[in-house]
Amino acid sequence: MKKSLLALACSLALPALAAYPEKPVTIVVPFAAGGPTDKVARDLAEVLRKGLHNQTVIIENVGGAGGTLGAAKVAKAAPDGYTLLLHHIGMATSPALYRNLPYKTLDDFEYVGMINEVPMTVVGRASLPANNWAELRKWIDANKGKINLANAGLGAASHLCGLLFQQSLGADMTTVPYKGTAPAMTDLLGGQVDLMCDQTTNTSGQIESGKIKAFAVTTNKRLTMPGLAKLPTLEESGLKGFNVTIWHALYAPKGTPKAVTDTINAALKSALKDPDFIKREEALGAVVITDARVNGPEHKKFVESEINKWGPAIKAAGQYAD
Ligand code: ASP
Repeated sequence: MKKSLLALACSLALPALAAYPEKPVTIVVPFAAGGPTDKVARDLAEVLRKGLHNQTVIIENVGGAGGTLGAAKVAKAAPDGYTLLLHHIGMATSPALYRNLPYKTLDDFEYVGMINEVPMTVVGRASLPANNWAELRKWIDANKGKINLANAGLGAASHLCGLLFQQSLGADMTTVPYKGTAPAMTDLLGGQVDLMCDQTTNTSGQIESGKIKAFAVTTNKRLTMPGLAKLPTLEESGLKGFNVTIWHALYAPKGTPKAVTDTINAALKSALKDPDFIKREEALGAVVITDARVNGPEHKKFVESEINKWGPAIKAAGQYAD
């Protein structure tokens, strides 16, 4: 009797899985619209839908608390493949930053696969008196206690970069948190904040048009993008060992059927081979993932290694939130 009930349940469930998705799929972006994570999500959504029966992929921005509000929303969502999370390195830094993270990073999600890697830039308002790294360093030393550093909250990429940047310089800046670096960029453009560390996907256009000043890149190699190739690395500027690269990946709530996450993963893999998507990413300084981390299990292993890499540095900096 038990067996036949199980068979009946399976026969009812299977056609539904085979048809996935039958309605629009929502990707939660845990930061404000118009920012670097949002840009990746919107570009990806356009190509991802091709592998999802051409269903609409809706982007929902749930910014706040450095990405943890959006991640928590997806952790609690129905595990049916219709609510996904597109998050970044914050998946790996938040466990060390939050005493009471409202989800378990490694247990509450199905890891679908990794999308891209993005370098960061140290940028400042156009009216800053400094024009290069050496001048910026002098200006920081001369203005101790008066400098504002924008970020997207504890757990954001801009927070991690800013934290390491201040630590390496021995500088203590006043951080101004936003729901994403899109609104932070608005204030940097308006001169309301002095400095920010942010991904090239959000800064390259503003740097190239001269609306903000750029001082360095956070990767250990210079960038090849024409407008940004002249920027020194922080490492060559004297901040030994400084090397921060941001990554983005897709997640589903824990318990989402494997057949569904496999479909999303297949759609992701085709999207990452789409020449237009690759071109759009490259133009913004991002590099599309071509290695095994495009698979859920390998991405999960990578996140574990990132938790182990960044956790001690964050704990040493003594930054926590409840
Ligand atoms: N990626 C965030 C955003 O999209 C910013 C950050 O992590 O610093 O706004």
